[in-house]
Amino acid sequence: MFDKILIANRGEIALRVVRAAREMGIGTVAVHSTADSDAMHVRMADESVCIGPPPGPQSYLSIPAIISACEITGAQAIHPGYGFLSENANFAQIIEDHGLTFIGPTAEHIRVMGDKITAKDTMKDLGVPCVPGSAGGVPDLETAREIGEDIGYPVIIKATAGGGGRGMKVAKTADDMEHAFMTARAEGKAAFGNDEVYIEKYLTTPRHIEIQVFGDGRGKAVHLGERDCSLQRRHQKVFEEAPGPCISAGERAKIGQVCANAVAKINYIGAGTIEFLYENGEFYFIEMNTRLQVEHPVTEGIFGVDLVREQILVAAGEPMSFEQDDLKINGHAIEVRINAEKLPSFTPCPGKITHFHAPGGLGVRMDSALYDGYSIPPYYDSLIGKLIVHGRDRNEALARLDRALGELIVDGVDTTIPLFSALLQEPDVLNGTYNIHWLEHWLETNLGTQ
Ligand code: ADP
Repeated sequence: MFDKILIANRGEIALRVVRAAREMGIGTVAVHSTADSDAMHVRMADESVCIGPPPGPQSYLSIPAIISACEITGAQAIHPGYGFLSENANFAQIIEDHGLTFIGPTAEHIRVMGDKITAKDTMKDLGVPCVPGSAGGVPDLETAREIGEDIGYPVIIKATAGGGGRGMKVAKTADDMEHAFMTARAEGKAAFGNDEVYIEKYLTTPRHIEIQVFGDGRGKAVHLGERDCSLQRRHQKVFEEAPGPCISAGERAKIGQVCANAVAKINYIGAGTIEFLYENGEFYFIEMNTRLQVEHPVTEGIFGVDLVREQILVAAGEPMSFEQDDLKINGHAIEVRINAEKLPSFTPCPGKITHFHAPGGLGVRMDSALYDGYSIPPYYDSLIGKLIVHGRDRNEALARLDRALGELIVDGVDTTIPLFSALLQEPDVLNGTYNIHWLEHWLETNLGTQ
């Protein structure tokens, strides 16, 4: 087992990794930009190294700075968290080339899954059901039009290198194709330096269901059920739950096994998420994330496992601490993402926290790096905390969420807390009857959000 690991991230996820490492008796090194000298992850880690100025490319995305921090401190492994370098195959490769361990999958698996076309081809070959669409990249508008006619409108044009909801455009009819095709390409080029796009059938009322998988890198893998992340704004998740309110035990076992078998076959190591759209009882693969997800705590809640601990174990060459048969669902968990954003526009709202009080009590978990007097810097993601609740069933989890939101105090900046209190008044949220478009419609109707 490692003596010391470095966490190449910030905020709540860096703290999350520090917590798992500490319970395992492993030393921790935090890295930080000059804007984060007073951040909680820096305070909580055993050691810290300043790696540069605030902009991501000069610190949290600087591979030489992070490798140097490892060398200075003697850390043997790096946990990338999510975002930043977590899905950068080059980073994983360089870490291995320096005789260090990347706590995550191999560079090759990151590369294959990071390109949405090769990911889809690989999954199709592994027996995972996919959304009907183009066979690979679409070179020009003429071909795009032919494919549109072939699979039938509406279709979605997606940047091969896309992520974070960017580089995706819907063409409702043939008339929209030119604009959608050109803008998806331009966005792909601008945001990811790659203008290759592909086309899929656009599903009109799906839910977003994702399967958590975990592999030991030696041909063994399990699934930890699904998360329903259908409540989204601009393709970004805001409310996640497990198990999915519309998924039966039979469906879970079937799609879960398909996913576990797929990753076992490629000797996948560590945590991964296979994302699907789910409509009329069918699953359609959209992408695989080769890292820990923001919403992993809901899975931890219902299975009672620590996924970060497992990531560290398998990265150190040890076996996973569970088998498929050990994984039994207990109750229901919900996570809401607390962002420092002003409603109804969702404009980021950095600034000083004048007062912070975290909720507590049975079944309440607050993953946050906030504290009284902390100043949220303007340079990074607006996620400032995740409130996760667990109950014996969905209704208990909902009541607990409502209660915990009432206890949570974040003064000094605007946050998305009021959004969740309002959503808990909605019959569709209470009944779990929503799809991926529900929240956008609700925001437009109730808050006037564009
Ligand atoms: P990203 O990598 O940017 O997160 P994804 O491929 O995971 O992109 O898709 C993100 C979201 O976009 C999905 O959760 C869903 O809301 C929407 N989406 C993606 N593909 C389709 C599709 N074929 N039909 C309808 N909606 C889609």
